[in-house]
Amino acid sequence: MEQKILQVVIDAPLDTVFDYRWLQTIAGMPVPQGGQIVIVPFGRREVAALIVAVVGHSALDPAQIKDVIAVRSDLAPLTADWFGLCRFAAAYYQRPLGEVALPALPKNLRAGNAVSLTRALKKVAASAPIASVESAAQIAPPGLNAEQELAVGTIAAAQGFSPILLHGITGSGKTEVYLNAAQRILSASDEPGQVLMMIPEINLTPQLEQSVRNRFPGLPVVTLHSGLAEGARLASWLDAHLGRARIVLGTRLAVLASMPQLRLIIVDEEHDPSYKQQEGLRYSARDLAVWRAHQKGIPIVLGSATPSAESWQHAASGRYVRLSLRQRATPEAVLPKVRLIDMERDKPADGITSTLITAIRRRLEKREQSLLFLNRRGYAPVLSCDACGWVSNCSRCTAFMVLHRPEHRLRCHHCSLELRIPKSCPTCGNVDLQPLGRGTQRIEETLQTVFPEARLLRIDADSTRRKGSAQEAFDSVHRGEVDILVGTQMVAKGHDFRNLTLVGVLNPDTALFSHDYRASERLFAQLMQVAGRAGRTATREGGNASEVLIQTRYPQHPLYAAVMAHDYQRFADGLLEERRQAGLPPFVYQALLRAEAPALQTALDFLQIAVELVDDEAIVVNDPIPMTMTRVANVERAQLLIECPSRPALQNFLGDWLASLRAVKTRARWSLEVDPVDI
Ligand code: ADP
Ligand code: ZN
Ligand code: ZN
Repeated sequence: MEQKILQVVIDAPLDTVFDYRWLQTIAGMPVPQGGQIVIVPFGRREVAALIVAVVGHSALDPAQIKDVIAVRSDLAPLTADWFGLCRFAAAYYQRPLGEVALPALPKNLRAGNAVSLTRALKKVAASAPIASVESAAQIAPPGLNAEQELAVGTIAAAQGFSPILLHGITGSGKTEVYLNAAQRILSASDEPGQVLMMIPEINLTPQLEQSVRNRFPGLPVVTLHSGLAEGARLASWLDAHLGRARIVLGTRLAVLASMPQLRLIIVDEEHDPSYKQQEGLRYSARDLAVWRAHQKGIPIVLGSATPSAESWQHAASGRYVRLSLRQRATPEAVLPKVRLIDMERDKPADGITSTLITAIRRRLEKREQSLLFLNRRGYAPVLSCDACGWVSNCSRCTAFMVLHRPEHRLRCHHCSLELRIPKSCPTCGNVDLQPLGRGTQRIEETLQTVFPEARLLRIDADSTRRKGSAQEAFDSVHRGEVDILVGTQMVAKGHDFRNLTLVGVLNPDTALFSHDYRASERLFAQLMQVAGRAGRTATREGGNASEVLIQTRYPQHPLYAAVMAHDYQRFADGLLEERRQAGLPPFVYQALLRAEAPALQTALDFLQIAVELVDDEAIVVNDPIPMTMTRVANVERAQLLIECPSRPALQNFLGDWLASLRAVKTRARWSLEVDPVDI
């Protein structure tokens, strides 16, 4: 009877491989291979593991080696390429391989449930064979314009690893470029290829999924995102893994999908913060996608109207090829006029200036739609007492509890503590409590008073809690059942509202003076994106030209000048110059060590030890400081930022530093983030 030692990785915080024994219990039973999934005993549990190597002997005492429980031999092994990607991610983000590789697999594959896997595999095998790409593409696409043609040609002709930054204004037809490039690349070879198309949030962009399916009706297109039920996720994942799915449309988690025939990667809205995972393995899906394309030697298209500073800098330095789409694709659709409303002169009543009220009224008269954008949900960010100065602080966080009037609640957006709205001041008994500031609910209320006849709709995380309700809300806007739409960033993404001719931005100024150096970059992107919702189609006879009105107290700010000129290039070049002078990313590389504990001093003490453990000239160490929001859910938090002009030098250092940090005795919980975004 043949016996082998399987070296496996497990989803556990231990950077090591584990040895298990495999016995050939039936003659002719195939020997397991690297890349297969096995079920093994681990402590008292049975867990899924991935085979990284199959060897003859173990260095361990044979009595200590346990037997494998089952081998998932009906599933084609994961490829060396896929392992390479996981290995890179693990090394780069300083995590054990098992903590990267196993969570990248669908739960049903990991959960010892062999029946569901067998059933899913049968289903995939039974599906009909697929027509070729040409015969599958049935719907006549629009003819490409010259800029699109050039972009598609460049992508399709790319040899080997080719990172391409597709900078196209909103409505310039980037999707058309993606679809044509995908089609050209899929039909260029006789072997079946696969395309990975990444988008920030699938639920907010159902139109894109529809366009992809319409364009390739006979071609298997699958989606991969966290909103899928486990069964559906497994089916999609298997389709991708077995090479059957030719296009995988997915959110950030799709970057780790197994796609053995990958030929092209597209990252739409590459600047979007959703590509950054903010817990557990804090990876950038965009950055991993670039590495994956490099590993595979294939083109990758990073598309955006407002590329990230990182990608813009890579284009400037020649590492990425830059392609531009400067015009809107449909000739009738002109860019909206952007105007500023000086709030010092036109003082807003209840958050809305008279100029904006007049503009909305004109839209109502012409039966056109307006969108008011305010990135703050709830009724008011604070409830306060004028008599004694009480404010609605969260008892567990360094934050205010937000007034949610329709729900009759005070809510903390950080720890989800909820209270009934107090009838009187908890300190002095004053019954006249005042809401301070404005959220979307309060704006909705104001609009109801000013325009009682208008049909209003608010779209934010509160109004769309129920599954499917966001889609219903967007549908009703498309059907013309809404006159005025009030929303947070949720409404800024992807949607193409045909009858929308006015966008009002209520209160963007706070981002101009944020302590977060990325705030202005994000503000610019949001303003361009929300502006892009207007003027998508031709102005109808007698209709209003599309316009964007921005309420501000700082009409002279250069950021607004660039927004008015629709000039991302000017903004980005200025931004990069500032970053270069200030020594900020992308001109330095950063890592952030966070520590948290019930007492702040515990966290700070740990970080101080961490400072003393740095003995590398290349590393710049900042002081440990409490986080801006120091306390969340009764836990005190502090951070230590370290910087280095060289990425490899930082990587080198981090490995050793972490090893010594692990040996530190502390009661603080800590974690390390490489390339942090929120600091
Ligand atoms: P983006 O993603 O760059 O904001 P879209 O891809 O959504 O822009 O395109 C905007 C609109 O223009 C869509 O309705 C699309 O069908 C249309 N479109 C794209 N390319 C062309 C073209 N070459 N001719 C006519 N219409 C086009
Ligand atoms: Zn009071
Ligand atoms: Zn709280």
